[in-house]
Amino acid sequence: MASRGSVQAKLNQVVQSIAEAMASEVCSIYLLRDGWLELYATQGLSQDAVHVTRLALSEGLVGNIARNGEPLNLAEARAHADFAYRPETGEDLFHSFAGVPILRRGRALGVLCVQHMEPRQYEDEEIEALQTVAMVLAEMIANTRLVDEESLAKARAQNTGAVRLAGTRLVDGLARGVAVMHEPRIVIEHTVAEDIDAEKQRVRAAFQTMRAQIDRMMSQAEFGGPGEHEEILETYKMFAFDEGWSRRINEAIESGLTAEAAIERVQQRTRVTMRNTKDPFFLERLHDLDDLANRLLRIVSGKMGTAAQTGLTQDTILIARNLGPAELLEYDRRFLKGVVLEEGSPTAHVTILARAMGIPMLGRIKQVREVVEEGDPLLLDGSNDSLFVRPAPDVVRQFEAHVALRQERQAAYAKLRDLPAVTLDGQRIELMMNAGLRVDLGGLDVTNADGIGLFRTEFQFLVSATLPRREAQTRLYSAVLKAAEGKPVIFRTVDIGGDKAVPYLQHDVPEENPAMGWRALRVALERRGLLKVQARALLDAAAGQPLNLMFPMVTEPWEFEAAREIVEEQLAYLRSRGLPQPTEIHYGVMMEVPALAYRLDALLPNIDFLSIGTNDLIQFLLAADRSNPKLADRYDWVSPGILRFLKFVIDQANAARKTVSVCGEMGGRPLEALALLGLGVRRLSITQAAIGPIKMVVRNAHLGRLQALMNQLLAKPEVNIRRELQAFAEREGITLQ
Ligand code: PEP
Ligand code: MG
Repeated sequence: MASRGSVQAKLNQVVQSIAEAMASEVCSIYLLRDGWLELYATQGLSQDAVHVTRLALSEGLVGNIARNGEPLNLAEARAHADFAYRPETGEDLFHSFAGVPILRRGRALGVLCVQHMEPRQYEDEEIEALQTVAMVLAEMIANTRLVDEESLAKARAQNTGAVRLAGTRLVDGLARGVAVMHEPRIVIEHTVAEDIDAEKQRVRAAFQTMRAQIDRMMSQAEFGGPGEHEEILETYKMFAFDEGWSRRINEAIESGLTAEAAIERVQQRTRVTMRNTKDPFFLERLHDLDDLANRLLRIVSGKMGTAAQTGLTQDTILIARNLGPAELLEYDRRFLKGVVLEEGSPTAHVTILARAMGIPMLGRIKQVREVVEEGDPLLLDGSNDSLFVRPAPDVVRQFEAHVALRQERQAAYAKLRDLPAVTLDGQRIELMMNAGLRVDLGGLDVTNADGIGLFRTEFQFLVSATLPRREAQTRLYSAVLKAAEGKPVIFRTVDIGGDKAVPYLQHDVPEENPAMGWRALRVALERRGLLKVQARALLDAAAGQPLNLMFPMVTEPWEFEAAREIVEEQLAYLRSRGLPQPTEIHYGVMMEVPALAYRLDALLPNIDFLSIGTNDLIQFLLAADRSNPKLADRYDWVSPGILRFLKFVIDQANAARKTVSVCGEMGGRPLEALALLGLGVRRLSITQAAIGPIKMVVRNAHLGRLQALMNQLLAKPEVNIRRELQAFAEREGITLQ
């Protein structure tokens, strides 16, 4: 390679040397030119075929290798389905065939292959030697621009075309942009080592850095606790200390490669195994190894940052295996249009954050980092749980129509902003917003909601690595009250524990059913210091104005009394010192545990309001885990059992003249909201995006007729309430989008 001379002369030399070294009758190099694979140099085939024989990517064994980016090793070439005979080459004499792709940034620039007269299977070492040569060839070809970008793009279009990947919607919405990998692929500039010992030293140092990083991650896992996170780190650790892996990399360096090239050489083997693996467990581990190889490459090449550091310059859909909330916040909001994760779950913190920021997000697309390449055009369609990769023009047109329709609806909702949520028969319904982070607060102005009906204070705890100090809590609550400009805000005390575990509040006994375990008020009443600090922060923040406070997961009336006492103690302290206090305190309780419905006679007289947390309440009523995607579509929220239960609760609250609201996701769904209004609920607290659609439903509904219908339906022993409500909506001209 280092010799002088033209590229053609070098390639001629290479095929000659390989043919000699492998004692093969044929060695050839095909390169991508104008979308074809052109025979560029050969030893053993007819020289007249050079620059004449051209294969399409869909054609022949060579096409197969370029298309799949994988080697072929065949004792009998003709037996392969893709074998294509070209008379001009004189190939019919040969039985065995081995070829490897010449890869650059994961794309094939061409193919290097050998052929033998005798049928024989090639040894793994021989294939690997070919791959090593191909790597060095790739560098030269890229540097001399023998294969241009246009050719690559053409090949890519022919080869891969459009793909639709199905995932799970984590945050609804539509987004269009180009693919950006959160952890960019490193492009290897130099493949041939100048000093083998120096390269080995670089790898040794990189391994040390990587091991230290993993140890550090393990000791300060941001959200701690056992689970997937820990499992991944354990696997990382196992690989990082695996002698076999570092040995293979060192061997590749000894063959003359730079540290970067050697790591990638070994990684290629992992990738090939990955493609041929069906066992999902093993595949998952190979993914981990691949991830780690990328990390090692980044360390050794000194290119450590994520794409956030490079900065986004155009509308982007970010691709990652997983993301932390802090990592998401590092991206430029102007260009970040969507996020796609290989993993991800609806209750993960990064999901909550993305929802609050209005960034559509899809998760659980296992193959996304294999199928999508940096720069690919993408359409993210949350409503269909789909990611369209390199979409065809008709898909783009359809998508654009969809976007236009949404914008029209958004515009219609925006027009409702300043109109009251009043039913046709004049009943005012309060529509409040759920929030939990500073980024949510802007939503109040956008929607003109009647206030914040549920402020989830635990979010601040979830996004920080240590227990938020009292001052930090006070600052956040003050900011919330300021943003609300006098509209009511209902603060819920921390609902930590269960699936919302934080490392600094660990609990010694592992729980089988964390949702029904040591969480929310149960934690706060045991760790009284936690509630005391929070109560004080809330009292300070609300000085001079009313404070609305509610407690989650109350099961027995005494729990409410005990929690109120802690708050009152703090208040008494402020009073005794003459410090500023709220003008009044309204106490509320969340109705989430079914048994509390039968204790309302004791509870209601002592509280100011009741807020039904349907997310938890329904999972307990149905014995169906709210975060288990398998159960997501299984139960109907408007089934008679649930609605009768809700009516039982709502009737009691209304009879006691205490405000009753719903603050679970149910209230943000048009049909479900209709059912709730029909049951007597006059206040809903819902996600920001739902305010417009629900206001539209409210303004088109006649409450009297709706209530009569619900009473009638709930009296029937057997009825499909969903269908009846749909029919009602249709009769009354209410759109349930
Ligand atoms: C609920 O359970 O309905 C609720 C609003 O609380 P969270 O979703 O935070 O558990
Ligand atoms: Mg809840």
